[in-house]
Amino acid sequence: MSKIHYKSVEEIELIRESSLLVGKTLGEIAKVIKPGMQTIELDKLAETFIRDNGGVPAFLNYSGFPYSLCISLNDQVVHGFPGKHVLTDGDVVSVDCGAVLNKYYGDSAFTFAIGEVSEQVQKLMRVTRECLDLGVEKAVVGNRIGDIGYAVQEHAEKNGFGVVKELVGHGVGLRLHEKPEVPNYGKRGSGIKLEEGMVIAIEPMINGGRAGVKFWDDGWTVSTIDGKPSAHYEHTVAVKRGAADILSTFSYVDNVLKEKK
Ligand code: MG
Ligand code: MG
Repeated sequence: MSKIHYKSVEEIELIRESSLLVGKTLGEIAKVIKPGMQTIELDKLAETFIRDNGGVPAFLNYSGFPYSLCISLNDQVVHGFPGKHVLTDGDVVSVDCGAVLNKYYGDSAFTFAIGEVSEQVQKLMRVTRECLDLGVEKAVVGNRIGDIGYAVQEHAEKNGFGVVKELVGHGVGLRLHEKPEVPNYGKRGSGIKLEEGMVIAIEPMINGGRAGVKFWDDGWTVSTIDGKPSAHYEHTVAVKRGAADILSTFSYVDNVLKEKK
């Protein structure tokens, strides 16, 4: 069992740079994502953008994953393959992106609505993003890992949605996935103590229906057991006193989506 690697201030700044590149890459996705395009086009764009900015796509070849982005459509939860699927009005698309810069990883995910999505899907997206915000609020010194999971689970279930439990958030640093695990469920005051120097990816995966998932034969794709849509938002954050330091950012995405309206 590997131990938690507590980061220095300098290391946290390096993770901030990697995470910023991921945030900018998601912003580039936001600019172009629209009905009529194939999801593989988004993957190529992300790979080119990350490399042009001196980084390396973190997911490409990670345990054999064959793409730079995880693109998970509709009932797919996470780890979907980009491909020939042509985006259509009403699709809900989770885009998960990781980049390595100066040896350090950044990891962030955002869920996009293609054209007009149903009110239920809009609610699912809003609530999942709120779950992320509520989880991040708990990533402060003095809390425990279970406080994050409790906040996420409580908000999702209160709204009638299912919390995916088979997959969890994680530490981030010199590796994409480090200790500790960061579940999206839990009990208040349980689990390891959150301490200065911990950098974690908080990533609620919330299903529009039941919590259950199935794992595909491709070895990667995870989808909902009941075929209902799923949403996924993720930030890389440093645990701090008072308030978490959010190292990744949705500001690029949000600015683009605001202009598109
Ligand atoms: Mg991710
Ligand atoms: Mg992650």
